[in-house]
Amino acid sequence: MAAPRLEVDLDKVGHNASTLVGQLALRGIAVTGVTKAALGWPPLARALVAAGVRGLGDSRLANLDRIRRSGIDVHLTLLRSPLPAEAVAVVAGADASCNTEASVVRALSAAAVASGADHGILLMVELGDLREGVLPHEVEGMARLADQLPGLHLHGLGANLACQSGVGPDAANMAELTELAGVAEAVTGERIAVVSGGGSSNIAWATSAPDTGRIDDLRLGEAVLLGREPLHRGAIEWLHTDAFRLVAGVIECRVKPSRPWGATGETAFGPPGAVRDRGHRLRALVALGHQDTDPAGLTPPEGMTVLGASSDHLVLDPGDHVLHPGSEVGFGLTYGALVRAMTSPFVTLAPPSGAGAGTMGR
Ligand SMILES: *Cc1c(COP(=O)(O)O)cnc(C)c1O
Repeated sequence: MAAPRLEVDLDKVGHNASTLVGQLALRGIAVTGVTKAALGWPPLARALVAAGVRGLGDSRLANLDRIRRSGIDVHLTLLRSPLPAEAVAVVAGADASCNTEASVVRALSAAAVASGADHGILLMVELGDLREGVLPHEVEGMARLADQLPGLHLHGLGANLACQSGVGPDAANMAELTELAGVAEAVTGERIAVVSGGGSSNIAWATSAPDTGRIDDLRLGEAVLLGREPLHRGAIEWLHTDAFRLVAGVIECRVKPSRPWGATGETAFGPPGAVRDRGHRLRALVALGHQDTDPAGLTPPEGMTVLGASSDHLVLDPGDHVLHPGSEVGFGLTYGALVRAMTSPFVTLAPPSGAGAGTMGR
C-alpha cells in the first residue's frame, strides 16, 4: 500500500462523536462537529452527522463546499470570519458564519438580499483569549445590526478560548457569555438559536460545572478526532485517541555512530540539538518529513525514538525493533501533525490496516 498514508478509523471517530453528543446532551448542550483538521473530508463529515451532531462547522469555505457538494444536508457554519470580498460565496455556501466586523456583516446582508438567502450571524465575543471577538460592551450594537439588516438573522453568540493565549473557560467568563446572550435577546426580542461556549477546551467545564447557564453548543474538533482537550492535551476519558495513524516506510536502517563528526553549523531546520554519545546504534531513515506532517507531533511505536527530521527524511532510533527497507512504521499524531498530514498532497488516506485493502481517496 502507498506510504505515507494516514489510516483513519471512522468507527472510532464516530464513537468519539456520539459519546460527546450523549455526555453533553445531559447538560443541555449540543455539538457542532468541526471538520477543518480533516479538510471537510466527506466520509468523516458523514460519520459526525450519523453520530448526532446538530450541524457542522469549518473555518474554510472550500471545506464547507466539499461537504455540501457531497450531498450532506446539515446546517453549516463558517467558523472563521470571512473577508468582505467573500460575502457572496459565504452566503451561498454556509447557513451561518462567525462574525465580528460591522462592515463584513453589511456585505453579508447585501449578498443575502441579492441572492434571496437568509444568512445567520454567529456573533463572536472576546472573553480574554484575544483571538476573534467583539468586546462585551459592543454586543448590543452588533446584535442590533444583525437583527435589523435585511437578509440576516442573529443566529447566536459564540466565544473562542484556548487558541491564542491559552485562556480557558471558567465560571466567570461562561457566566458573562450567558449574560450577553440575555443582552442580545433583549435586542432581538427572540430567543437566539445558539450560545456556543467554545471548542474542545470547554468539555471539562461543560460536563462538570454546577450550572452551564445559557451555553447550549460546543464546536468540537480535536476531542472528536483525537480524543484530547487542547488546554492540557490530556486524553479525555471514554474517547479514542488513536483514530488516526500516520504510516510511513523505512528507506535505510544501518548501524552508525550516534554522534555526528566534522565541523557543525545549522541543520536544515535550525540549530542542531545536543547529541549524547551512545556508541554505535541502529539508525533508521523513514520517508517522511516536514512536507508531510509536523515531525515534532509524532509518537513512534513504544521503544522507538524520533531523533530528528528534515523536509523528507525522519531519523529514528528503532530500539529493539527489527526494521529494513520497506518496513512500515505507524505514528500517533497531535492535532498539529494531523492538520499537516491531512493537508499534504503526499499523504494518502486509507482505512486502518487489517480493515481491507485500498485507499479511500482524498
Ligand atoms: C477550530 C475551531 C473550533 C474547534 O476547536 P477544537 O479545539 O478543535 O475543538 C471551534 N471554534 C472555532 C472558531 C475554531 O476555529
